[in-house]
Amino acid sequence: MISLDAGLPEAAGSESARGPERRVAGLTVATLLATGALMGSINLVVDGVLREGAARWAYGATMLLLFGLAVALGVRGRAGPRHTFALVILGDLVYLAVVLCIEDPLRYATPLMLLFPALVAAWFLDLRGLAVHMAVTTAVCLAALWPSYDSAVGLGVQVGVSAGTLNGAAAGVFLLRRRVQRLLEHTESLARLDPLTGLHNRRYLVEQAPRLWRQARRDGSHVTAMVLDLDHFKRLNDEFGHAAGDSVLGAVARSLSTTVRPADVLARTGGEELVVLGSVSDVTEATRLAERLRQAVADGRGGDGHAVTASVGLAVVRPVDGEDPVAALWRLIDRADAAMYDAKREGRNRVAAAPLAPARAPRPDRTTA
Ligand code: GH3
Ligand code: MG
Ligand code: MG
Repeated sequence: MISLDAGLPEAAGSESARGPERRVAGLTVATLLATGALMGSINLVVDGVLREGAARWAYGATMLLLFGLAVALGVRGRAGPRHTFALVILGDLVYLAVVLCIEDPLRYATPLMLLFPALVAAWFLDLRGLAVHMAVTTAVCLAALWPSYDSAVGLGVQVGVSAGTLNGAAAGVFLLRRRVQRLLEHTESLARLDPLTGLHNRRYLVEQAPRLWRQARRDGSHVTAMVLDLDHFKRLNDEFGHAAGDSVLGAVARSLSTTVRPADVLARTGGEELVVLGSVSDVTEATRLAERLRQAVADGRGGDGHAVTASVGLAVVRPVDGEDPVAALWRLIDRADAAMYDAKREGRNRVAAAPLAPARAPRPDRTTA
């Protein structure tokens, strides 16, 4: 029996996955801007750090700009990739402005200050954005160090060391982030797979409901759910052992995988229960598909040559506007599950179709109410 009250995961929409990343980027950059402005403002009250005249005013205005940006970003609470790119480049240019306003840049404004935009760029930007940022970092190091060196060799070595350190650190963080991201994606894909059979699991099945419902609405077709339950599987386990049972489950999964249509969703939802979801024009087409699945199970053999059959229950529904696809999916699977028990009662190794569902009134459309 398929339990319906287990926690239903929310579909992992790409927009919802990007949201937290943008919030972290926004708050990180806002914090860096505010910290830079606070620390930089100290120079305004320390004698002998800033050049006198216009440079002091330009420096003060730059610190004010940083404060303003930090507050604006903090209020907004998020920064997309383009904003983050613009802000890290601005961070480099602010460093250049600071250097031009300071008496002794080597002493009071080391290029290591560029480490903060470099790390933000490495963590939040794509490869192209990071490459542009690295080039800007090198140019800014050159422009900032130029006045402090008489010899081209000395300047070259210092720019090489500074830009090399900053860009090397950024490249390392970028590679680390890529590795973490790949591991995360791999873990997420594993979370949607059943480890024994390699089929999708119920979490993936639920996530597919909105797509299937949208597609059926667009095509004017029906959605079918087929519940397959292996017959007398406990007996097979008792007679030949669980390893033999597992091997038969693997063989069933392989047979079904090669039988379902490419757009169908095949998932193992419980011990020896599987569900196939797909789009069909009517019950006749769904029954034909279910019969093919039943036949594929009966024709398959486990590693030790053990055979098994399946009872299949199916139900079809025509999605209506305004319904919740996940709730509708579980109603559909409930009906298919009940039909599967009819198939068991009628002798097993057969297909049974659920009676057509009474039409459900769609939820009133709030926008037109
Ligand atoms: P029916 O035809 O009425 O469905 O009989 P059945 O024996 O298949 O039904 P029942 O629900 O009594 O037993 C299901 C069995 O499936 C119980 C359990 O031993 C077996 N099973 C569930 N999950 C696994 C699994 O991952 N591996 C193995 N080998 N067996 C499993
Ligand atoms: Mg069962
Ligand atoms: Mg069974």
